[in-house]
Amino acid sequence: MKVDYIRLFEYIIAKLTEVVMPIYEYNCPFCREKFEKLQRRADEQPACPRCGKPAKRSVSVFAGATDTAGSGCAGSAGSGFG
Ligand SMILES: [Zn+2]
Repeated sequence: MKVDYIRLFEYIIAKLTEVVMPIYEYNCPFCREKFEKLQRRADEQPACPRCGKPAKRSVSVFAGATDTAGSGCAGSAGSGFG
């Protein structure tokens, strides 16, 4: 029995993209609308669901992950203030 490797490969890639496909956070510079969108390609620029103008990608997803860095930053700022 011949195994169809190409179809198998395509199936694996399709499954991987389902899992890995990232959700990007977008900010609309015109109406301040915030929304999340699944993007296959990072360079895609979706339209704002509220005003229809091109939205900008936000990096706040990464900022939220670094929670410990925020407390250290606040400590140094407090010493400078006092
Ligand atoms: Zn908008």
